[in-house]
Amino acid sequence: MTAAEWIPSIDIGLARRLDAEDPLAPFRQEFLIPNDREGKPQTYLVGNSLGLAPKGLRDAVTAELDRWADLGVAGHFTGETAWASIHELLTEPMAALVGAEADEVVVMNSLTVNLHLLMISFYTPTPQRHKILIEAHAFPSDHFAVESQIRQRGFDPAGSLEVIAPRPGEETLRAEDIVATIEHLGDELALVLLPGVQYFTGQVLAMDEITEVGHRVGALVGFDLAHAAGNVELALHDWDVDFAAWCSYKYLNSGAGGVAGTFVNRRHITDTERPKFLGWWGTRKDTRFEMSTVYEPIPTAESWQVSNPSMLTMAALRASLDVFQRAGGMGPLRAKSERQVTYLDQLLEALPGNRVISLTPKAMAERGCQFALRITDPNHEGKKVFAALEEQGVAADWREPDVIRVAPVPLYNSFEDIHRFVTILDGVLS
Ligand SMILES: *Cc1c(COP(=O)(O)O)cnc(C)c1O
Repeated sequence: MTAAEWIPSIDIGLARRLDAEDPLAPFRQEFLIPNDREGKPQTYLVGNSLGLAPKGLRDAVTAELDRWADLGVAGHFTGETAWASIHELLTEPMAALVGAEADEVVVMNSLTVNLHLLMISFYTPTPQRHKILIEAHAFPSDHFAVESQIRQRGFDPAGSLEVIAPRPGEETLRAEDIVATIEHLGDELALVLLPGVQYFTGQVLAMDEITEVGHRVGALVGFDLAHAAGNVELALHDWDVDFAAWCSYKYLNSGAGGVAGTFVNRRHITDTERPKFLGWWGTRKDTRFEMSTVYEPIPTAESWQVSNPSMLTMAALRASLDVFQRAGGMGPLRAKSERQVTYLDQLLEALPGNRVISLTPKAMAERGCQFALRITDPNHEGKKVFAALEEQGVAADWREPDVIRVAPVPLYNSFEDIHRFVTILDGVLS
C-alpha cells in the first residue's frame, strides 16, 4: 500500500481479511467492550492504561463470594481456591508471562508498594556506592518511591539520584547512552531502576544489555514492567535481572488496582543477609499457624509477602491469566501484536500530509503495542483532536503536554478497530 492508495472506505477489506485470518480473533468475544454514545462498541485502544474486563472474571469473583457465604472461615483452607494459598494458583501463569522460574515470582500487593519492598532489599547504599539511576521521564510514582527510599537511608536525592534523558531534540533514550551512563557512574552506582517499556513513548529498553552492564559495574538492576507485562516477551531469568515489579490492570486485564507481580532472582532468594520487611505471610507455611515469633523464610519469592492474599483480586487475576494461557501465552500474542503494529504504521504513513507523527521507535525490537502520537498539523490542537476522537467512540489517552497514546491489544483489538481509528483520525484532521 502506498500513500496515494489511502482510500479508507475501500481499504476496510484488508482489515477484514486480516481479522478473518487471525487465529486469536475469537478471544475478542471473551471481553466486555464499553459502548460509545451511539450504543456501539468503543474503539478501545487504551489497554495500556486499563485493560478490558474478561467475561470470566465476574464468575470467578462471584464464586469466591459464594464460597465465603457457604464456608465462612473454612474457605481459607477448603477447595481449589483455598484463600490461604490462592496466590499459588497465579505463580506459574504469571512466571510464564515474564520468563521467570516459578520460585522467582509472587503475586501480591500493588506495584508501587512492591517497588518499595524490593528497594528495601535491593537498595543497600554505602558512602561509596549510593546512587540510583532512573530515567528523567520516569512515571511519577516510581520517581517518588526512589526519592523517598534514598532519604529513608539517610542520603539526599540531590547527590544520590541520577537521571538519564533523551538527547536534546530526541524523544527516546539511546541504548549507548544508557550503557555509557552506567559505566560512568561505575562504583558509585548501587541500583539501576528503569522501565521495561517506557510509559510515555512506548519504547522498549534493552533489558538484557542494561542488566549486563549494571552487573559489570557492581550495581543491581531492577525493572518496572507495568507497560511490559502482557505486552512484550520477557526473559527475566535468562537476562539475570535482579528484581522486577509490575501491575496487572494494564495489559493483564485484572481490574483497577488489581494485585501486582513481583520477581526476585533465584540468586537472591536465600540470601539471609539482605534486609527485608517481614510479615507473617513470608514465614514457612507448615509452621506459620503455630504462631511462633521465630521467622523462617519460605525459600521462594513468597518470603517477600507481608500479608495474606486478597481473595477477590486474586480470583480476578486468575480469570484474566487463564485467557492468556488459552491464547498460547506471549509468543502468539506478540506475533499478532507485531502484525497489528505494522498495520497501524502503514495506515498512519498513508494518511495524507504530515499531520501526525509517532514518537515511538520504529524498530520492532524497540516497541510494544503502544503508539505515542503527536499532532503536528498547525490547524489542529492535539488536545482537541483527542476530544474529537473520544466524541466518536475512540478510547485513547491524553498525556501532557501533547501526546495521544493508543495501544492495539492483540487479545481483544481487531484489525478493523485499527482501521476505524485511523479513519476517524483522518476525518478529525480534515
Ligand atoms: C501504571 C504505573 C504505575 C502505577 O502504580 P500503582 O502502584 O499500581 O498505582 C507505576 N509505575 C509505572 C511505570 C506505571 O506504568
